Amino acid sequence: MRYAEPETVEAALSALSTHEDARCLAGGASLVAMMNAGRIGPGMLVSLHRIPELSTITETGDGLWLGAMCTHRTVAADARLRGAMAAVREAAAWLAHPAIRNMATLGGSVGLADPHTEIPVALVAASARVEVAGPGSRRVVPVESLFVDSYRTSLQRGELVTRVFLPRGEDGAVGHHLRFSRVAADYPTVSISLVLAMDGDRCRQVRVVVGSCGPVPLHVDAADQRLVGTRLEAEDVAEAGGLLARAAAPIDDVRGSAEYRRMLIPRLLGRALSQARERAHV
Ligand SMILES: Cc1cc2nc3c(=O)[nH]c(=O)nc-3n(C[C@H](O)[C@H](O)[C@H](O)COP(=O)(O)OP(=O)(O)OC[C@H]3O[C@@H](n4cnc5c(N)ncnc54)[C@H](O)[C@@H]3O)c2cc1C
Repeated sequence: MRYAEPETVEAALSALSTHEDARCLAGGASLVAMMNAGRIGPGMLVSLHRIPELSTITETGDGLWLGAMCTHRTVAADARLRGAMAAVREAAAWLAHPAIRNMATLGGSVGLADPHTEIPVALVAASARVEVAGPGSRRVVPVESLFVDSYRTSLQRGELVTRVFLPRGEDGAVGHHLRFSRVAADYPTVSISLVLAMDGDRCRQVRVVVGSCGPVPLHVDAADQRLVGTRLEAEDVAEAGGLLARAAAPIDDVRGSAEYRRMLIPRLLGRALSQARERAHV
C-alpha cells in the first residue's frame, strides 16, 4: 500500500488520482479499524493531516465554514456554533467518547456516511452545505445530497470534502441534538436533531431529522409541516412523530429492534422539541 502526505488540496487530488482505490485518511478512527478488520485494503492512502486549509474555521456574515479536518472536539468547543448551529455542536459534544472525539473529523463523518452516526443527522438538520473538491474544480452542494445509501456517498472517485458551511439560520432559531443510547459512548439507538424557531407560543419554523433509522438521515417535510403553526401540543408531536416513524426504515440490531426504534421516534421528538423550546424562549 502506498501512502502520501500532501500539503495542499491540489496535491491531495493529484495523489488520489494515481490509484483507482485510493482513500483519504482523516482521523482514521473508522478507516484504520476497517483496514485492521480486513474489510478494505486501499492501494493508496492520502493523509489530509498536513493541509492547513482543511483545519481552518472562517466566520462570515451568515454562518461558519468549518474545515473538513476539524475534529469533533474542536467543533464541540467552538462557542460560535450557537443558534441553529448548536445542533452540530451538541452532536459533536456527546458522540462516542473523548478518544473518538479527539481523532474523528467532520469530513471523515461525511465521507464515511455511517447510518449509525449522528454528525450527518445534525448537519442535515442545520441545512449544512459542503464544499467538494475534484480534479480542476470545486462545488458546493447541500449535505443531504451526499448521503445516498448506507456507507455510500455521491462523491465521485478522486473527490474530497474540503469544508462544511453551517448557516446561522433565522433570527431566534435554536438547534438541538438528542441521542438515545444503551449506555453513554455507545452509538445511538436513535438520534434526533432539529432546528426550531418560535413565534410566541407557536412554532414558526422547524426542521427535524432522525438518525439510526434508515440508510441515510431521515427528513420528512410533511412532519415539519405538521408542527409549523401549532403550539406543539402532545397531539401535534404524536402525529408528526408518527409520520417520521412510518417513513423510517430501521433495522434490528444489538442496539434495538426496528419496532423499538419506531416507538422511540415520537417520544424522543417530544423530548427534543420541549428542550429546544425552553431555550428558544430564553
Ligand atoms: C468506536 C467508534 C465509535 C463511534 N461512535 C460514534 C457515535 O456515537 N456517533 C457518531 O456520530 N459517530 C461515531 N463514530 C464515527 C466518527 O464520528 C467518525 O464519523 C468516523 O470515525 C470517521 O471520521 P474520521 O475522521 O476518523 O475518518 P476516517 O476514518 O479517516 O475516514 C472515514 C471515511 O471517510 C473518508 N474521508 C475522510 N475524510 C474525507 C474527506 N475530507 N473527504 C472525503 N472523504 C473523506 C475516508 O476515505 C474513509 O472512507 C464512531 C467511530 C468509532 C471508531
